[in-house]
Amino acid sequence: MTIKMEISLVGIESKEVFDANSAIWHGNNYELLDLNFPVLFDPKKIDSNRNDLLRYRHFLPIENYNDFVSFSEGFTPLIKIKFSSGLIANIKLDFLFPTGSYKDRGSMVLMSKIGSLGLKKITQDSSGNAGASVAAYAAKAGINCEVFLPFETPNSKVAQIRAYNASVNKVNGNRKETAAIAFEAAKSNYYASHSFNPFFFQGTKTFAYEVMEQQNWKTPDAVVLPAGNGTLLIGCYIGFTEMFKSGVISKIPKLIAIQSENCAPLAQLQKNALFNMQSFVTTDTIAEGIAIPNPVRAKQMIEAIEGSLGEIITVTESEIINAWKEMAAMGYLIEPTSAATIAGLLKYGLGSNQTENLVSLFSGTGLKSMDKIQKMI
Ligand SMILES: *Cc1c(COP(=O)(O)O)cnc(C)c1O
Repeated sequence: MTIKMEISLVGIESKEVFDANSAIWHGNNYELLDLNFPVLFDPKKIDSNRNDLLRYRHFLPIENYNDFVSFSEGFTPLIKIKFSSGLIANIKLDFLFPTGSYKDRGSMVLMSKIGSLGLKKITQDSSGNAGASVAAYAAKAGINCEVFLPFETPNSKVAQIRAYNASVNKVNGNRKETAAIAFEAAKSNYYASHSFNPFFFQGTKTFAYEVMEQQNWKTPDAVVLPAGNGTLLIGCYIGFTEMFKSGVISKIPKLIAIQSENCAPLAQLQKNALFNMQSFVTTDTIAEGIAIPNPVRAKQMIEAIEGSLGEIITVTESEIINAWKEMAAMGYLIEPTSAATIAGLLKYGLGSNQTENLVSLFSGTGLKSMDKIQKMI
């Protein structure tokens, strides 16, 4: 089954257009690319026989059904949780994905695309979860995967990536230096980067689709999301915008972006109104998964926040640990990075009107971070 699609790759500043069916991952002078893929979202086209991401396949940029590389992932439950502060929010259980984080949304589409291009080798870099996710899908698709990781990556995450037979390169440096080295390596390969490659965001947009379906097409007032590289933030903005432009929803929810106070380039960027990411001072945070000092799509992250009338909230280490403890005490073992988003949700809830319909998520499972958790308890 093949669907004919109107689709192209476009340089984000130059607007130069490239064939989306060629194996390119950058424009001239390594410019970042976006995907031009106009989706007419129609709820009647959802395949309700599937309880996974393939229910949205008519809105995904994969033309041939047989190209999908899938673990029957996604369509995660949306549950109501009442927090100790009294705040009530709807939480997507995205820690139930096959590799333990929502990154599988993006990897499913990205790796399906890469498989359809006939590529046999890819390069990735990650603070852990994206590497594990891409590596799992590469294993399923029979594609060789090399992953660059910062020196501080927890052993359990390194082991998970190795388990999927990816080759692991630990870089003697931080997240930013790791990305630079992976970028060089990818020049003679294909860069399956969750932040750089626009196909990844075509998978993360399914979060917005699921929320709308599960809320019976009632748009939330605010969606509280992590903001490291912004793969979910930008993906959600794409998804909600598609539904809005297609006339399926009448407003876009406020997108609330959560950063760790110890690594908050967006918050600093907004204060300084400058797109110069070089000089940010950051320190370690227990939320290593959102510790991204220089997100390559910072400008689009700000657009998603401002375009949705959302805001940026930063959380301290103790707020993250308290949120983690509260969730664990309720029986939800989430990753410390994931607790940063919940800490942000609680902080947002303090100032907000309790009649707001709030959505957030558990982005990753605590089983990935038992070494850190051991120290916390
Ligand atoms: C990747 C990740 C995040 C942050 O997502 P970004 O796309 O970098 O903004 C948050 N939580 C978990 C568990 C993650 O794996």
